[in-house]
Amino acid sequence: MAANGEEQKSRHQEVGHKSLLQSDALYQYILETSVYPREPESMKELRELTAKHPWNIMTTSADEGQFLNMLLKLINAKNTMEIGVYTGYSLLATALALPEDGKILAMDINKENYELGLPVIEKAGVAHKIDFREGPALPVLDHMIEDEKNHGSFDFIFVDADKDNYINYHKRLIDLVKVGGLIGYDNTLWNGSVVAPPDAPLRKYVRYYRDFVIELNKALAADPRIEICMLPVGDGITLCRRIK
Ligand code: SAM
Ligand code: CA
Repeated sequence: MAANGEEQKSRHQEVGHKSLLQSDALYQYILETSVYPREPESMKELRELTAKHPWNIMTTSADEGQFLNMLLKLINAKNTMEIGVYTGYSLLATALALPEDGKILAMDINKENYELGLPVIEKAGVAHKIDFREGPALPVLDHMIEDEKNHGSFDFIFVDADKDNYINYHKRLIDLVKVGGLIGYDNTLWNGSVVAPPDAPLRKYVRYYRDFVIELNKALAADPRIEICMLPVGDGITLCRRIK
């Protein structure tokens, strides 16, 4: 029995501790064999443009962009929302996946960064699907909630903004997404800091948001209105499927 246990343990250790990925080389392999060769030209252009921007660390990774694009097609998403746009990489991945009459309500407090990427989105012929609102997302959600007809109207919602507000977003989004629809909360592994010891040397902003991310993860796991699936893609994305 004990020997079997030991065997199990060592086999598990062999598989590695970095979730499914054992090395950076393996991640590079994914990018080079299946992400970059299939990345639409417009997404490549936007990724390269964003790489020159000082806050480029905020952008969605190419593998996560590919994942979102396929997910949206799989669920036949038509009416969607994005909170946290930056230069628009995840927005473009979404816009390319939607049908011609698909819609994305996109919100960000910073319009300048959105406008940096906008020419690429326009050239890709998908800008007509985007309704960009400059400003904090919470008041927009509060306003939408007031109108019954917005309830249950979204097929997909991607949340990639201020982590200290995710719980507040969830309280509203759960009414706005349809039963059977999806909410994706991004960065739910928060740079791996969710498992860092209390005295770990973390950057100030990582430390500040960590507790909010941990609280969100607990709240989502305990919420009976959703089914969840936390994926180790990018910095962690938790998919929540509304079931009631
Ligand atoms: N999804 C983007 C992409 O693919 O490049 C990355 C988004 S970036 C990680 C987070 C964004 O959230 C920033 O552009 C920031 O301006 C925006 N943000 C921060 N607080 C916000 C708020 N209260 N409401 C809306 N957007 C907010
Ligand atoms: Ca993100």
